[in-house]
Amino acid sequence: MKVHEYQAKELLAHYSVPIPKGRVASTPAEAKAIATELGVAVVVKAQIHAGGRGKGGGIKLAATPVEAETAAGQIIGMTLVTPQTGPEGRLVRKVLIEEQTQIDRELYFAVLIDSSIGRAILMGSQAGGMEIEEVAASNPEQIHRVAIDPAAGFQPYQGRELAFALGLDGDLLRPAVALMQNLYRLFIEKDASLAEINPLVVTKDNRVLALDAKLNFDDNAAFRHQDILALRDVEEEDPLEVRAQAEGISNYVKLDGNIGCVVNGAGLAMATMDAIKLAGGEPANFLDIATANDPQRVVNALGIITSDPNVKAILFNIFGGMARVDVIAEGIIAAHNSMPAKVPIVARLAGTNLDEGLKMLADSGIHVERADDLGEAARKAVAAATA
Ligand code: GDP
Ligand code: MN
Repeated sequence: MKVHEYQAKELLAHYSVPIPKGRVASTPAEAKAIATELGVAVVVKAQIHAGGRGKGGGIKLAATPVEAETAAGQIIGMTLVTPQTGPEGRLVRKVLIEEQTQIDRELYFAVLIDSSIGRAILMGSQAGGMEIEEVAASNPEQIHRVAIDPAAGFQPYQGRELAFALGLDGDLLRPAVALMQNLYRLFIEKDASLAEINPLVVTKDNRVLALDAKLNFDDNAAFRHQDILALRDVEEEDPLEVRAQAEGISNYVKLDGNIGCVVNGAGLAMATMDAIKLAGGEPANFLDIATANDPQRVVNALGIITSDPNVKAILFNIFGGMARVDVIAEGIIAAHNSMPAKVPIVARLAGTNLDEGLKMLADSGIHVERADDLGEAARKAVAAATA
């Protein structure tokens, strides 16, 4: 789960990580009032769940409250396109108004999981303010990593090691190490999957400050953080993914292809996507209906898949273990009957109560192209989608 910069910064402040003074606004008038209250030159920052806002025109400096009002008027309501939003961009609904910072240096600092070693790591670079992926590709030696032992936790010497690598010595050393330790504590206590400060700045008056903040949280741990769940902004999420969650299908991810997939089991769903690609097609989604002896689950899944106008064929790949093929068949028939535009269906069904399921499909009279194995199913789905 993602949150907005202004929400991330409130959490940072709660963990004593220094941030610029500021507040979020939904209207230009509010922006002006906040700028007046701050009484200094401000920066007006678009709040969307994507970075690269500076490049896209979503961040403007304002010397006076009237300028802040004008800038907010330009940014609120705009469809902001950044390297991270995709070409369709995101509608901006809120702006963060902050006191302007006099920047001496821009650095990068993050806490994240390094899955290759199964540990949280601190990652830092002197090349701040730019995409860290670019730095990793062009100047990998400029990225410094320190792994944290989960049993021992953050050790101050590890913070000092990274701070020195970032040129944060002298008077900056203690506040830099404190910042790292505090961000690490937030990361662990809130079950974050990423806590990124880019840029972490050294100000002209020699302080360290989180000028930007990005926090992602582990959805699997969200149930134990009601405070984090309260920060969710569904307007920033894919509408079909939001609907899938509301209808009991937690494992749905929309993709760009044209073959909709209804599969039970995450591993089988991955294999199905691979088979489609191998057959020369592109999946329209990842979807796992899980073990569901509930025809309505199938109806809901098909409803979501057919709401995507790109979908030209649907591939059912069901292995009836705990799930029963007759129940799935009942769902396919009900879903087919409620489908507004008939999209061709290919089904590879196997396992428990297969014969009953096949008989129900045959008796229903609906047209379902059958396949006996996954390769054949994928080829037939690709053919149906391109027909
Ligand atoms: P992002 O583009 O979405 O990552 O947004 P950031 O919050 O990282 O801001 C992008 C860039 O805008 C930063 O790297 C800074 O160079 C600049 N910027 C943001 N806030 C300030 C500020 O208060 N003062 C100055 N001088 N520059 C700022
Ligand atoms: Mn940034």
